[in-house]
Amino acid sequence: MGPTNIALVRFYQADQQVRAAQAKLEAATKDVRIQERRVNDLVERQRLATTTLRELQARSGQFDLDIKTRDSHIEKLRTQQQAAHNNKEYQAFLVEINTQKVDKAKVEDQMLAVMEQVEKQQKESAELGTMVDSERAKLEQMKAQINDRITALQAEIDALVPAREEALKAVPPRAREAYDRLAERFEGEALAALIKPDRRREEYACGGCMMDLVTDVYNKLHSRDDLVFCPSCHRILYIPDDLPPEVAVKTRPAKKEPKEPREPRVSKKKAAAAAAAASAPATEEAAPEPMSTADNPAEVGATSEPTMAPQTVDAPEAPPRDQSPAPTPGSPASVE
Ligand SMILES: [Zn+2]
Repeated sequence: MGPTNIALVRFYQADQQVRAAQAKLEAATKDVRIQERRVNDLVERQRLATTTLRELQARSGQFDLDIKTRDSHIEKLRTQQQAAHNNKEYQAFLVEINTQKVDKAKVEDQMLAVMEQVEKQQKESAELGTMVDSERAKLEQMKAQINDRITALQAEIDALVPAREEALKAVPPRAREAYDRLAERFEGEALAALIKPDRRREEYACGGCMMDLVTDVYNKLHSRDDLVFCPSCHRILYIPDDLPPEVAVKTRPAKKEPKEPREPRVSKKKAAAAAAAASAPATEEAAPEPMSTADNPAEVGATSEPTMAPQTVDAPEAPPRDQSPAPTPGSPASVE
């Protein structure tokens, strides 16, 4: 890969490490945040319960006052009854007193119901108070426990950031722009490694979305410094360390020089046609370079190239073969 892609991969790796450390910190503080929310919810419930309790107590107090007022009224009626001048008057007071007693009994029933509610509410408030206390204690304990961990995780992030900054310096602005855009879209996964699902076949896929890629994507990445995007997910593709040319394009043995972007590409068929078109002496002339094509990885995929594969190299198609088979060094005309 060229310098831009190499810088991008280095930056990507450093960025991934920072992001992983940040995610760990997030995860560590997440439990505390959840516990904080739990405590706050309980405190709110406790507040509402206290409000309800006060209202009930106030109503209970009103009923109590009402009953006392009625008591004193009944007492007054009794005194008046004692002073009654005749039986009729006495009976009238008696009816009035009984009516008052019935009314008072109704209020007492109401008060009893409210007092039951008060009792229930007091119990609930007390329970909530206990819960708030214990959850708060748990929160404090959690905070104390992760305090060291947060410090350690923050230190981890702080230690990784300079490497990312340093790696970023080597990334050209345009590449960085593309990277940032993709990183935002894919939660940091702006790059995708080329993968080779079958070691024996020269087929590649995007490690990000698993989409099959054209065969010459490897050479394109290997020999050039352009950003190559996955046509499906648009991540920036790169060649991982575990996919060197000898592994990536292992269709025949012996290839040492990975960079020969100027090499013209030619198919076996064309070579055969060229050989057929050429005269016999010309074929003999071409014979002295039997392995030249195999030395160049840029050529290796040529035999099985899909039609839609983008050009890896800027070189023109094979030069006209019908005139002369061109015994140029590296000419693929000699391929069997
Ligand atoms: Zn993809």
